[in-house]
Amino acid sequence: MAQIKVKGIVIQQDPMGEKDKRLLVLTADMGKIPVLAKGAKSQSGRFAAPSQLFCYSSFVLDRGKTFYYIKEYEILESFYGLRSNVDVLAYASIMLELSRGFSVDGEDNSELVRLLLYGLHALEQKDADPYLIAQTFMLRLMSDSGFRPELDHCLRCGRVYDQTEGWHFREEEGGLVCPACMGTTQRGLRPGAVAAMRYMVDAPVQKVYKFTISDEIRQQIKQPIRSYTVMNLGMPLKSLAFAENVENMDLKTRPIIDN
Ligand SMILES: [Zn+2]
Repeated sequence: MAQIKVKGIVIQQDPMGEKDKRLLVLTADMGKIPVLAKGAKSQSGRFAAPSQLFCYSSFVLDRGKTFYYIKEYEILESFYGLRSNVDVLAYASIMLELSRGFSVDGEDNSELVRLLLYGLHALEQKDADPYLIAQTFMLRLMSDSGFRPELDHCLRCGRVYDQTEGWHFREEEGGLVCPACMGTTQRGLRPGAVAAMRYMVDAPVQKVYKFTISDEIRQQIKQPIRSYTVMNLGMPLKSLAFAENVENMDLKTRPIIDN
């Protein structure tokens, strides 16, 4: 049996039969690979720990016909804390679902792996802003995946963005449209909203999650980034509905997740 050594993040896990778990593991070199974790359904199973969602491990895998099988592992980051807070879990789930959607099997996915790992780290911090981290992940992922939004010029007339009010983000067109071309009295984006989106796209990955914005800007960039992401994904983003439910929920009625 051929063996491989890879580092990867569990981005999906499903029960398989009585005792096992079927995993999707995102790797830098190979994209996502199907892994069967024997006995992982039981807490005491040898492979239970590295089979948890978000867990980042170094694996030695045996290659089978349909699956890779865990032979040895070493957990590098468990990201355990992400599973115990419903807000964080909601936004982290978006990041995993998009990682499944935008990873390219058999190719170099190192940029995506880095973006996801830095994002999961950011979510674990005590003062984390899960909403902003997920929004940042979405727009940066779009940009890295070949859907870089136009944030420097008007898509219709080519005018250079001048940091004035009234520009709009048109997801169907792929970026900014100037006030003259919009021809509407509808209020456009604040310059801070465009600056935030530019930062998400351009900042080095080590710093991309380290910024903050006002409540007004949060509201302004929410739908444009989400619509743009779903449009490019080309299918419904199921975990977004979960996050939106959490956003609309009263604090007192939120479920307690104890995993
Ligand atoms: Zn224009």
